[in-house]
Amino acid sequence: MMKLEHLGIAVKNLTDAERLFSDLLGTNPYKQEAVPSENVVTSFFRVGEVKLELLESANEDSAIAGFIDKRGEGLHHIAFEVPDIEAETERLKQMGFNVLYDKAKVGADNKLVNFIHPKSASGVLVEVCQEIAE
Ligand code: ZN
Repeated sequence: MMKLEHLGIAVKNLTDAERLFSDLLGTNPYKQEAVPSENVVTSFFRVGEVKLELLESANEDSAIAGFIDKRGEGLHHIAFEVPDIEAETERLKQMGFNVLYDKAKVGADNKLVNFIHPKSASGVLVEVCQEIAE
């Protein structure tokens, strides 16, 4: 059973976006974290049971830099939490989804992550994630 975990928003400037969303939500981010494997710096807000993940590119070669070049700032991905990401990755592949990685990678916020290409998901980049057990 999937559960909406967070929405990812691509931003040009993390400090500006943190200020904006702090004003908008009336709360500060609970975490800022660099993810070197994805060349991004992230910032997380809690909004009820869901989170917002702001993503700023750490360099020009990142997927976020490419996204902003092409489409500007905005909604970048939606993330669903699953109980078993390996099994889910297999299931999605068998269903014909274009899954980006053969094996889930370590992402931000203590999660294993994988992605479904927007071309096989109605134009939406979909992240599947699983909390890494302590
Ligand atoms: Zn995410």
